[in-house]
Amino acid sequence: MKTQQRDLTTTGIILHKAPFQETSEILEILTENYGKITAIAKGVKRKNSKLLGLTDIMNELNIELYNKPGSNWYILKSAELISAHAFNTRLEHNVLIQSVIEIFRQIELSDDDWEKLYILFNKFIDYIKTVKFNPIAIFWRFLLNLYKQLGIELNLKHCAICKGSTEEVIGFSLTQHGLVCRKCSRSVRSDSLIQVSPHTAEIFKIFNSIGNYLSSIDLDNSTIREINNIFLLHLSDHFQKNFHLRSIELYSQLNPDNVIEV
Ligand SMILES: [Zn+2]
Repeated sequence: MKTQQRDLTTTGIILHKAPFQETSEILEILTENYGKITAIAKGVKRKNSKLLGLTDIMNELNIELYNKPGSNWYILKSAELISAHAFNTRLEHNVLIQSVIEIFRQIELSDDDWEKLYILFNKFIDYIKTVKFNPIAIFWRFLLNLYKQLGIELNLKHCAICKGSTEEVIGFSLTQHGLVCRKCSRSVRSDSLIQVSPHTAEIFKIFNSIGNYLSSIDLDNSTIREINNIFLLHLSDHFQKNFHLRSIELYSQLNPDNVIEV
């Protein structure tokens, strides 16, 4: 049941905005207390609007909302900027935050789950902006936490079947939700087995403490693609829909691997 209150205050992060009529916008906001909501910012594009400039994507705001009884729509009454996360953020960090936003926009969860993810997302944003090398590894760490929170944990510590060490990992099994060793891979249906290259297998060995290796790991584009693919297929499998993240595609294009020297 939705809350009976009509006027609500909370904090929120703008996930998306779309123009509405001449001067208004429709916003998708991840709120701390009321989950992911749709809100109308009336007259936000007028020069004298109190909301002018506050509704940019990734802005974290203190907000006051009005909820029409019986409706899933909210009206954004007022907002106060806590942080403009898109501002002054390096492009690769920005792209990774956008990737999380793309996932959040495609999933539906209970308000309680969103409350936990709101905190997780905030920590992720603050931290990723400080990461100099291989920030994508922090994105993966966020996804591990996200999956844990959603009860769809990935098994990357052992072979998902024999529970043996990850020394001889050669693939990822979609049905077993984890890495599998050479021996066990024979019992996995080939259409649910994703091959893992030796280099990617090496990265998985240190995955649980990847934050300690940011400046020393070598993440080339094909490794990044392999790992992204596994994370997204797992998500697609759980939610029964395809997750193709445009932002994450862009990340590979930013990788120095792709810089063409002239
Ligand atoms: Zn095994």
